[in-house]
Amino acid sequence: MFFRELNQGKCKTYLLACETTRKALLIDPIREKTDRYLAALAYFGHKLEYAVDTHTHADHRTGVFELKELTGARVVMHRRAPAPHVDLHVQDGQTIICGEMQLQVLATPGHTPDSMSLYCDGKVFTGDTLLIRGTGRTDFAGGDAGLQYDSITQKLFALSDDTLVYPAHDYRGNTQSRIGEEKRLNPRIADRSKIEYVELMAKLGLPLPTKIQEVLQPNQTALDDDRIAFPTVAELNQVRQLNPLEVQGLINSESPPLVLDVRESNEYSGELGHIHGSRLIPLKDLASRAGEFEAYKGKHVIVICRAGVRSTTAAAILTSLGFEQVSNLRGGMLEWNEHRLPVER
Ligand code: FE
Repeated sequence: MFFRELNQGKCKTYLLACETTRKALLIDPIREKTDRYLAALAYFGHKLEYAVDTHTHADHRTGVFELKELTGARVVMHRRAPAPHVDLHVQDGQTIICGEMQLQVLATPGHTPDSMSLYCDGKVFTGDTLLIRGTGRTDFAGGDAGLQYDSITQKLFALSDDTLVYPAHDYRGNTQSRIGEEKRLNPRIADRSKIEYVELMAKLGLPLPTKIQEVLQPNQTALDDDRIAFPTVAELNQVRQLNPLEVQGLINSESPPLVLDVRESNEYSGELGHIHGSRLIPLKDLASRAGEFEAYKGKHVIVICRAGVRSTTAAAILTSLGFEQVSNLRGGMLEWNEHRLPVER
């Protein structure tokens, strides 16, 4: 297997390629380095089959959508990833086949709900779940320290001790580690119980990444559009969140709300289906088409998407446009389906 880290910086992007078929895969490409990746692929004579993100990044714009557009590579993310335009959603235990390479998917939530690690040929790509002598932060974007502890100790530490560890970030100049080393020496995890870990992570008090707004929402929505003013963190935090059963109750009530689905049309008619009577207006068109449902300005509007992330953005946008009663379906159509509530396909 051909293997190279391409950024030589704090953010890591890994190029993996099958030596026989020359089919290649990029893990965690950064948008601003797209030209460099294309040059490397051309130089080595590789054909990009897959552009994979280990999770929805908050510190850099992802390069996966740009690479898809330029090369036809398929975008791969975990099933819980909120963004549209993902070609292959994967889940725990699944295998990504690229030429003669086989990458095993390990769901490792905690840093984000959609965090995954990839195992191939004695190497594990851990995203921001397990870093070298550290772990990814869990204090925003749906992070959960307890889940992360389980992901690390039960999934990653179950790999053999000599497995090489390649994280998505390193701030101290390290390039690789081994599972056995991290078990013994990782100061966040070694000799710590789950309760102690959760306490530690809650006390880190890290500043938010710079440019988080400019990065996180475009990555979550796959939108790159100057016409859309993304809401602030404070505005997003104010959005009222309803669980699927609450939404179902309102839909069946005597004065049902307007149910607005902000996904893309292929998702609306796709695998997860849509809610009967819901109206489709993709997020990118929401602000320009808000006039179509002006009549609902004083009434209840419930916004829906895949994972409940894009729709939270949509709800905040509608609130700023003067809609007085907007709620979000928490967990989106993923959670709606997990509750086995009725869908139309
Ligand atoms: Fe991250």
